Amino acid sequence: MTAHDAGAPLLSVRHLRKAFGEHVVLDDLSLDVHAHRVVVLIGASGSGKSTLLRCVDLLEDVDDGVIELEGTDITDPRLDANAVRARMGMVFQAYNLFPHLRVLDNVTLAPRLVHGVGRRDADEQAMAVLERVGLAGKARSFPDELSGGQQQRVAIARALVSRPAVLLLDEVTSALDPELVGEVLDLLGELKGSGLTMLLATHEMAFARDVADEVVFLHAGRVHEHGPAAQVLGDPQRPRTRDFLQRFT
Ligand code: ADP
Ligand code: MG
Repeated sequence: MTAHDAGAPLLSVRHLRKAFGEHVVLDDLSLDVHAHRVVVLIGASGSGKSTLLRCVDLLEDVDDGVIELEGTDITDPRLDANAVRARMGMVFQAYNLFPHLRVLDNVTLAPRLVHGVGRRDADEQAMAVLERVGLAGKARSFPDELSGGQQQRVAIARALVSRPAVLLLDEVTSALDPELVGEVLDLLGELKGSGLTMLLATHEMAFARDVADEVVFLHAGRVHEHGPAAQVLGDPQRPRTRDFLQRFT
C-alpha cells in the first residue's frame, strides 16, 4: 500500500458503475468513508447496498470508477485481491461459518491458510478477538451449538482477526430472531467505541440513529442523500428519503 495522507478518506468510492447485463445497479456512485467513522447505508431492497459492499470487498468486478483503500486503487487488477481483502473484514447476513469446524478454527482459518500465520499465533489472535466479542468460552464449540446471535458474533470475530482497516457489514441482523438482534447491535456499538471504521447496510433505523456518524440513502444505485445521521434520519431533505423513513417509524 502507498503512503496514505492522514486527512484523506480511508475508503473512497468514486464514480462507481456496476451493471448485471443491461441492468445498471450502481450508477456513478461516489462515497467517502473516513477513519473511525461509522457510515450506514439505508435504502429500499434492490437499491444496491449489497452490491456496493460486494464491490468494495472485490467480490464483484466493477464496470467503471475507482475504489481507493488507504490511497490505493483496489480495482487495479494487478493487485493481489486476497491481500487487499485482508485489509477489510466482511460480515454477511448469513453468518457462513464452517459447520464442521470449531469456533476457534473458524476464526483461525484465513490467518493460517491465506496469511500463513502459525498455529500458536493464530490461536492466540483468535482467542483475543473471541474475548472481544464475548465468546472466548465457546472456542471449542461447533457453530450449531451456538445461538444465531452468537454465531454472528463469531463471524464478526473472524472478520476482525486480521485487524482490518475497515469492517463491511451487510444486514448482519436480518437473519436473526428478534430477541438475538440486540446482542449483535450492542457488539457493533462497542466496536465503534473502540474506533473501528465501519461501512454497513441495515434496516435497523433505531440502531442507525444510535451508532451511525453518517447515513447514506441509496436509491436506484445512486447516493440520493448523504449527511450526518441526525440530519438524514431526523430531517431528511429529499422527499424520497422522507417517504422511505416514514415506512420505518
Ligand atoms: P440491496 O442490497 O439494496 O437490496 P442489491 O445490491 O442486492 O440491493 O441489489 C441491487 C440490484 O441488483 C437488484 O435489482 C438485484 O436484483 C440486482 N442484482 C444483485 N446481484 C445480482 C446478480 N448477481 N445478478 C443479477 N442481478 C443482481
Ligand atoms: Mg442487500
